[in-house]
Amino acid sequence: MIDRPLPAGATLLVDLDGVVADNLPRLCTYLAEAYGHETTPAEIDEWAYEVPEAGGHVGDVIAELMADHAAWYLGGMEPLPGVADALDRLRERYRIEIATHRIPETHDVSRAWLAEHDVPYDEFHENVPDDKGALAGDALIDDYHGNVGDALSAGKTGVLMRQPYSDPGAVDGAHVVDSWGDVTRLLL
Ligand SMILES: [Mg+2]
Repeated sequence: MIDRPLPAGATLLVDLDGVVADNLPRLCTYLAEAYGHETTPAEIDEWAYEVPEAGGHVGDVIAELMADHAAWYLGGMEPLPGVADALDRLRERYRIEIATHRIPETHDVSRAWLAEHDVPYDEFHENVPDDKGALAGDALIDDYHGNVGDALSAGKTGVLMRQPYSDPGAVDGAHVVDSWGDVTRLLL
């Protein structure tokens, strides 16, 4: 008997950046071009990674990218390997809902990107509260341990997609995965 953590028909809330879309290469390009800050994805190993040249941390730079360069930043990312096929297969058993903290003004760009890359989903949440655990749904797949912790606190299944800045130690009880292959092995 296969012991899956979720029943058929469950709703999976799926984050975008660091989960469906590979945000770090694009971010590193911008940090170098706009601020002369040379770095690599592997070196962005803290959620609040400092960017001294920008006078703040990487979250401030991402906010600037979303506000001023959404088409270039969000529209130019590559999908994470295998994500479209994995969601296609997962959708046969589960409902897939996109839940991102990207600002609502960028959602048209995000939806066009998802269509361009054949990433399937059932719903795209227009407004996502700071606490993703407050959304209806059974599980959250997210790269930020804070969001996964909120999902766990709300009684959901938490799946942490590990990125250099993710902290698995902060989310006791989460399933920690490194790829969409890991997600399908866990849930299918
Ligand atoms: Mg994310």
